[in-house]
Amino acid sequence: MSKTGNEKAQDLSALKLGSSVAARQLKYSLFAAILLGLIITAFQIVSDYRWIGDVYRQANERVLESSVPVANEAVTKRDTDLAEAIVRGMMVQRSVSKVTITNEDGSVLYQRKRATGEIPVSRWAEQLFGGLQTREILLPGDTGPSSGSVGMMVVELNPQVFVTVFMSRSAWSFLANMVFAVAMAVVFAALSYFVFSRPLIKLAHYIVKSDPTDVKHPFEMPPMHRHDDEVQLLGSVTVGLFGMIRGQIGQLQRARDDLLDANVNLEARVESRTRELNDAMGKLEVLASTDPLTGLANRRVFMTRLEENLSIWKRRDTPMSILLLDIDKFKLLNDTYGHQAGDAVLASLSKLLQRSLRDIDLPARLGGEEFAILLPGEEKEGAMILAERLRASLEQDAVAFGGKHLNYTSSFGVISLPTQAAIAKMDAEIARDVALLKSRENSDLADILYSLADEALYRSKETGRNRCTFADLSHLSVQVKS
Ligand code: GH3
Ligand code: MG
Ligand code: MG
Repeated sequence: MSKTGNEKAQDLSALKLGSSVAARQLKYSLFAAILLGLIITAFQIVSDYRWIGDVYRQANERVLESSVPVANEAVTKRDTDLAEAIVRGMMVQRSVSKVTITNEDGSVLYQRKRATGEIPVSRWAEQLFGGLQTREILLPGDTGPSSGSVGMMVVELNPQVFVTVFMSRSAWSFLANMVFAVAMAVVFAALSYFVFSRPLIKLAHYIVKSDPTDVKHPFEMPPMHRHDDEVQLLGSVTVGLFGMIRGQIGQLQRARDDLLDANVNLEARVESRTRELNDAMGKLEVLASTDPLTGLANRRVFMTRLEENLSIWKRRDTPMSILLLDIDKFKLLNDTYGHQAGDAVLASLSKLLQRSLRDIDLPARLGGEEFAILLPGEEKEGAMILAERLRASLEQDAVAFGGKHLNYTSSFGVISLPTQAAIAKMDAEIARDVALLKSRENSDLADILYSLADEALYRSKETGRNRCTFADLSHLSVQVKS
């Protein structure tokens, strides 16, 4: 199942996306700024070291250069006061820690040393700016350096003051750079968060919350962004994409609706076709089972019903009878009044049959002017009474045709299948033959009954027509044995 916009938004806030981005930005900004600060500090320290070193050396040289001539004079004149004056002057320079001026014989003319603790010497002072140095300078006297010396000036140099300056400058430089770096990192992280990350996060929340597939509601625009930049561009692209998604979904929905409509139409058409087909099949069934001229059942239907009734006779001992009916001299009627007159007689006879019979009786047109009537449950006596009644009715039937009333007569052949009780009362031989009929197949039995009825009908014709004849069951023995 797909999540709703709200659920997705909650997932996103669970990730604490905003704070982690800001923290990461601050972390990397700090890292980069501190690295840069350290590099700058290192450059500053190196250049400070060189610069202070230069100052230190130049100061030393100046002191030595300016004091040598005076020291030379003091040694030459053995002037202790002058020597003291020059040494005190030298010691104004705080890198000079001790000065000794000796005579030619090595005796000390004047010596001065800073008090211990006046300038405490650190370990660094022994390492930096050449460390603690002792400079021995020969004093040439009046004659110049070529003729030997008149004495010596030994100066001990200590860079501690310069080291202190260097150290404090370095420390301040480091501190200032670090403070600046951290401040820059914070400012940069904040700027990048407010200018870039926060609008992006808002856009991300907007995208997650929006449901471009919900075409029922107009979708919201992305959060306002002040700058015309890449974030703005991303927002516009998102809206464009949402629009495209909507368009596609709209098209899909229209296609689906069309498809549904088509389906409904198709179903309706299939339904109406099915109805038409069923109607046609119903008509076909009626056509296949009905005689078109008279509307009576045809031979096929008659034979089927007959066989069903034969089964019932065999199983349940239910009697049944068949009347065969043939119009007398029908050819003559046709020849005299025309074929249409004959048809009118056939139709009239059929109506009369239908009117006169019970629902369970089945009148059928077997062909031409020959009809059959199936009488379920009817034995010989009932069948003969009915046949006689029908014959009399038909004789009375006057068919109106071409301004005339046409009369006609019919001949009947009747056959019955009796109950077991009726068979018992019959002549022994006939009873045996009738009983044997039960072992015959229905179709064979139908043929036997038909031929016996037809034989009876033939006898009705032979003996003068317009009469009913019951089949001669003694003829059964021939049929049964065949
Ligand atoms: P019989 O008394 O011996 O039965 O004489 P008949 O003329 O009735 O017998 P036949 O079998 O010689 O003649 C039957 C006639 O029935 C022949 C035919 O023209 C006529 N017929 C058969 N079917 C139809 C039909 O559907 N319509 C009409 N009008 N005549 C038909
Ligand atoms: Mg006939
Ligand atoms: Mg006939």
